[in-house]
Amino acid sequence: MTLDKTETTRVRFAPSPTGYLHLGGARTALYNWLWAKKTGGVFILRIEDTDAERSTAESTEGILHGLRWLGLEWDEGPFYQTANLPKHIEAATKLLESGHAYRCYCTREELDAQRKAAEAQKRAFIYDGRCRKLTEEESPAKLESGIPYVVRFRTPQTSAVAFDDLVYGRIEKQGHDIEDFVIVRSDGRPLYILSNAVDDAHDRITHVIRGADGIANTPKQVLIYNALGITPPTFAHMPLTLDNKKAKLSKRSHGEVVTVAYYEKRGFIPWALCNFMALLGWSSADGREFFTREELIEAFDLTRINRANSIFNYVPGDTKNWTDPKAIHFNSTYLRTIPPAELEPYVREELQSAGLWRESFEGEEKEWFLKTINLIRTRYLTLTDFSERGRCYFSDEFSFDQKAVAKNLKDSNLRTYLPELSDRLEALPDFTAYEIEEVFRTYSEEKGIKAGIIINGSRTAVSGTSVGPGLFEMLEVLGKDRVVKRLRDVTPLIPEAV
Ligand code: GLU
Repeated sequence: MTLDKTETTRVRFAPSPTGYLHLGGARTALYNWLWAKKTGGVFILRIEDTDAERSTAESTEGILHGLRWLGLEWDEGPFYQTANLPKHIEAATKLLESGHAYRCYCTREELDAQRKAAEAQKRAFIYDGRCRKLTEEESPAKLESGIPYVVRFRTPQTSAVAFDDLVYGRIEKQGHDIEDFVIVRSDGRPLYILSNAVDDAHDRITHVIRGADGIANTPKQVLIYNALGITPPTFAHMPLTLDNKKAKLSKRSHGEVVTVAYYEKRGFIPWALCNFMALLGWSSADGREFFTREELIEAFDLTRINRANSIFNYVPGDTKNWTDPKAIHFNSTYLRTIPPAELEPYVREELQSAGLWRESFEGEEKEWFLKTINLIRTRYLTLTDFSERGRCYFSDEFSFDQKAVAKNLKDSNLRTYLPELSDRLEALPDFTAYEIEEVFRTYSEEKGIKAGIIINGSRTAVSGTSVGPGLFEMLEVLGKDRVVKRLRDVTPLIPEAV
């Protein structure tokens, strides 16, 4: 689409702080952020905290933390919707004064009766608008007598309301299909539909980019804008994300896997998650999937957001994958392809929280550290692998996988082979992969044994597992002292000959 350079784009992410920052919300934030970056615009964060019973400070904290972790920093805010309450009330008063809204004195019983009548006739309940017909005398009299009332918007009955959604196209609704919706409750609190629109106007939002569940509200909000004499923003609604059984993602049915915090805990690189989320509902013109920040900003376009629901390929209770395999694929690809220097801060943080970090990794051992993480990352999926699977590189206290021991250390001859290899390795002037390999080859030839026996045995002896990078490179980064010691210390795990 062509960008209007005359007006600064202003977009917002407007979460309600009633729960976790979930993938759906984070994707909304990401699309808004991308659009602001692309257009040189402003990304605003608004916390829609008007639901006092359900909003919590903890949730707000979680949302701010999650956005910062993802790298989706906002330019303005956070603004809190409750702070704007006087503006919401002012708008309601204006609408009452201009006749676009009216006071409705219907009691709950009356409304229930209307609802029941509609049910009996098998038609959808729409408030019949009886209070809009109150006469000039009736209305002030009721107001004076102190009967509780709500404020309803007077929906034009004979015209339609329409807007052009950047994703879903033109959406039109007949006025008579929209009930006279409530904008202020009987206790004087404005409804979300009003506050949200008033805040967007107040924050001079140019593009409302939000989930498709917002479409139902939009015609009503356009009516509010029109009645207040404000040009509505441009709307772009995004498809919902469903699981592969077409169920809506929710914490209740899917658990933590739908929360951003979980990916932080499980060792995701934030941008890998952003890149994955970008494709939940958007695709590039050339089908490309991996993007740096700058590339994604360049490629992203609101008009390329899909209309079809996007699929998060995860089955609750899946024992093989703890999230959508594609998300893991993104993370592991980033993890093994970004420059080691870029990876280093993430690994440092991971090792710090696991108690495995040493200051020397940043000082005299820096070169070794970068070389090591570069070598071991090849098969890693998440950052936690550096402290779990990679523990033997950063600490002498690592555990032995019983299956690996049973498989690779079962030959009692290893009680002789490994210490002998250890002696030969100790004597090496240059402890390089090349020299180490020579030692192994010569030894197996001399003994007339398969190299695999000592290669696999050594691997388990020095790392506790049966998997990892090429053995000789691995021994090189582990260093002579560790290797020599571990090859000797493992003897008690090898069965004696019978
Ligand atoms: N507070 C609303 C929500 O969390 C925001 C809707 C909107 O973006 O307009 O769903």
